[in-house]
Amino acid sequence: MKIITKDFHISTRSHCEFVDITSEVASAVSKSGVKEGDAIIYCPHTTAGITINENADPSVTHDILLTLEELIPHIRAGYRHDEGNSDAHCKSSLVGCSATVLIKDGQLALGTWQGIYFCEFDGPRSRSFIVQVRGE
Ligand code: ZN
Repeated sequence: MKIITKDFHISTRSHCEFVDITSEVASAVSKSGVKEGDAIIYCPHTTAGITINENADPSVTHDILLTLEELIPHIRAGYRHDEGNSDAHCKSSLVGCSATVLIKDGQLALGTWQGIYFCEFDGPRSRSFIVQVRGE
């Protein structure tokens, strides 16, 4: 089994945003030569995350961010963390810091409307994510 790991760097532009990283992941898969296996997309940050959702209508990611904002307010009585970014930590844990996508016939087995997103919750910042491709 082959295991290929690649680091990516991005600069986020907003306090909270979803950055479509599907093409970066797809290029790591295609360069790996793996035909059957999986790709793990991992975010090594405590105030960001990785998710998979619709990439056809940009309103969807807008609405997800709006919903997260409503569920997890920036300022809330009772927060203790003195960096002032407890909401971002909570969003990161809710969304999760990784995703796995199957590789079939050398391609990401994403559905027609699915894209892979780096989720910024405490930007703008320099960020990174890691893609590990495993398989034959
Ligand atoms: Zn913090």
